[in-house]
Amino acid sequence: MLIAAPPPWQPTWQRLGLATATDPAGRLTAVRVTVYPVPVLSAVPPLLWIWLLVRRRWVRRSRAAKGECLACGYDLRASRAAGRCPECGAGFRG
Ligand SMILES: [Zn+2]
Repeated sequence: MLIAAPPPWQPTWQRLGLATATDPAGRLTAVRVTVYPVPVLSAVPPLLWIWLLVRRRWVRRSRAAKGECLACGYDLRASRAAGRCPECGAGFRG
């Protein structure tokens, strides 16, 4: 029974969990991929999306509390009668 020796792994992009093995002639024979970067990198877009949603909600609440236009942040305290923001034209209630 012949058991092949494990290939000599050479770290290629070690921070990304990639390693390669070559035969004595220098030809690529195997690629090893460590899986932990996959879920970590996959989590970045949803976390970014959630952060943007939370930030947008916080900005809108802050602008509403200060009497500013929700769309552009223009100070509407003196121009409530117009019904529209004089800066961007967005409508508002109240
Ligand atoms: Zn506006």
